[in-house]
Amino acid sequence: MSKTSRGDAKDESKHLPIYRHKAKLVEAVKASTFLVVTGETGSGKTTQLPQYLYEAGFCKNGRIGITQPRRVAAITVAQRVSQEMQCTLGREVGYQVRFDDCTSQDTVVKYMTDGCLLREILADPGLSQYSVVILDEVHERSLNTDILLGLLKKIFSKATKSRSFPVRVVVMSATLETDKLSAFLDNCPVFTIPGRMFPVTCTFGSAVGPKDTESTAYVKEVVKMVLEVHTSEMAGDILVFLTGQTEIERACDLLFEKAESIDYRYDVQDQTVDGLLILPLYGSMPTDQQRQIFQPSPPGIRKCVVATNIAATSLTINGIIYIIDSGFVKQLNHNSRVGMDVLEVVPISKSEAQQRAGRAGRTSAGKCFRIYTEEFWQKCMPEYTIPEIQRTSLTAVVLTLKCLGVHDVIRFPYLDSPEERFILEALKQLYQFDAIDRRGRVTQLGKLMVEFPLHPGLTRALLKAASLGCEDMLLSVAAMLSVENIFIRPGHPEKQKEADKKHRALAAKCGGTNDFATLLTVFQACKSSDRPSAWCKENWIHWRALKSAFSVETQLREILLRLQQMRDFPVETFDGNKNELFRRCLCTGYFTNVARRSVGKVFCTMDGHGSMVNIHPSSSLFDQDAELNWIIFHDVLVTSRVYIRTVCPIRYEWVKDLLPKLHEVDVYELSSVAREEVTDEEMTKWEMREAAKRLPEVSTEDV
Ligand code: ADP
Ligand code: MG
Repeated sequence: MSKTSRGDAKDESKHLPIYRHKAKLVEAVKASTFLVVTGETGSGKTTQLPQYLYEAGFCKNGRIGITQPRRVAAITVAQRVSQEMQCTLGREVGYQVRFDDCTSQDTVVKYMTDGCLLREILADPGLSQYSVVILDEVHERSLNTDILLGLLKKIFSKATKSRSFPVRVVVMSATLETDKLSAFLDNCPVFTIPGRMFPVTCTFGSAVGPKDTESTAYVKEVVKMVLEVHTSEMAGDILVFLTGQTEIERACDLLFEKAESIDYRYDVQDQTVDGLLILPLYGSMPTDQQRQIFQPSPPGIRKCVVATNIAATSLTINGIIYIIDSGFVKQLNHNSRVGMDVLEVVPISKSEAQQRAGRAGRTSAGKCFRIYTEEFWQKCMPEYTIPEIQRTSLTAVVLTLKCLGVHDVIRFPYLDSPEERFILEALKQLYQFDAIDRRGRVTQLGKLMVEFPLHPGLTRALLKAASLGCEDMLLSVAAMLSVENIFIRPGHPEKQKEADKKHRALAAKCGGTNDFATLLTVFQACKSSDRPSAWCKENWIHWRALKSAFSVETQLREILLRLQQMRDFPVETFDGNKNELFRRCLCTGYFTNVARRSVGKVFCTMDGHGSMVNIHPSSSLFDQDAELNWIIFHDVLVTSRVYIRTVCPIRYEWVKDLLPKLHEVDVYELSSVAREEVTDEEMTKWEMREAAKRLPEVSTEDV
């Protein structure tokens, strides 16, 4: 790595607020096991602190690991830092996110998702590779970060004898809750990076009121507002907050269309402005496109970034003067109406709205245009965002904790405890999957399940298939369900018809009544094609998503092979046809998602909630009604109706023996074990699995 000629990026970093505090900050990290670092977003915490520690020699004893709740943030920031340090990404500076490991032996500064670090703890509970662990974006309160906080507190609160050098844990957060964090981490010191913020004027709009919480009309309003700002405000870039990819793409399309007709001689107030550069920003975007976002716009051109919440704190774009806030965010919530986790579009909290507005005041005074009314702010927006741990399913993390020897999952040190019923629900589900026994102890199967960075249900189906020797089918399906949507649905009505026709033809190849089988067909057809990218184009399939699915499949297969070699892997036999075998394997993982025809096209779930659900139009079963009485489904979409997606018909006999398990178990029996006294030694007794490779995570944060 060259230390003499550093690029512009490095010089830029000297102007960041954190720079003046470099020496003191390094001292503070040296001085105590735990340290809380706080400062406004954009002050340089994420990109600079790891470099300061590197320069101060912290890498002599091990790596510096920095976690991010979002995968895009981990990737983008690692790119930036490798640029600043003038090294190739993947060498000294690297990143690891689920199914994508860009690190090497040389990597000393490693950005990763919080889920990744959680998986590393499974393989190496003492985190012996690390000299410093930095939990970043802690204010986001993602589920995995919250669990990591508790685990790191447990592991490093007392001096650990097994380590030859002391570890340092730094917890970074944008302003909020630092006292609480410090109190949680043995009253550790708090280092505050003084920020400079310029005033931001906020105005409310008239478009979204308290009655509009379920409509998506705000996309049009946002577009209108962008054009208004562009034509009537002085130069300066715009940052728009919307909720997800489809919406962002729609908004960008609309903007392109409308921006065409602007006459820059008459329509715009600021005559130095003569163009609009529209850039989308969301989680699953290709990284080369993301890079453009950070580049300064050419003279006279106003940049308009249309982003998800990722631009609220994880990524800082320079030059933003105007914010347009839709007031909504996409969030994974446990939906009590359907009894499962659902990605929902919900109003943001007031604190979130303030954070969004603040993005306009970093380098000069700014303006924030909220498209919602003041009444909406008062009546529909909660004060704070509820931590993820209190609103999503805990099944996967409870299994992880149990595998780490934390049997008393109720009294685990949570920064904010989840409701007991959520923990009980997780225990119940794990019991139903045979991952824990009646006493709440992890079973052999549970130990296998925890190795997969997938939803426990999908893992259960995959392991069943593996024991029956038909893992090929389930590996492909699991991979396809782990990547972004593979089906392209163009906006243009004619093209849409054409795409739908192609997709129906693909579904028909495998009988046309099983969406899981369609995924498998697409996977296999593309894989065996001589020109896979052309094949995708022809069939309206996202080639990029399919390419990731191929890579994910390989990685899942590697995990499975390793497990099959390492342990007494269960072996079963089955004599029936392949189609039935496939669906029966799915049933072992999806019996919690069984529905039965109620009336007409409405189905009723069998998990005890008895919710009424409809098959989503994207399913090949949408307009089939012949003898379709029992089905399983992959997930749920809640709009004004409850839709189920990725559906497969089954026979009642296949789930008959599994369904009672949904009701049989007394959760309090499981919880009485959960309360059982377990000493901290359990943690250390946990034998290290030397051969265990580092594995990535189950993450909901691709939004
Ligand atoms: P914090 O973590 O305190 O919010 P960051 O370290 O993320 O601050 O950001 C510091 C600066 O680095 C910001 O000015 C931001 O614009 C810049 N930066 C971060 N990532 C990139 C990137 N990929 N390209 C260009 N600049 C970047
Ligand atoms: Mg940061």
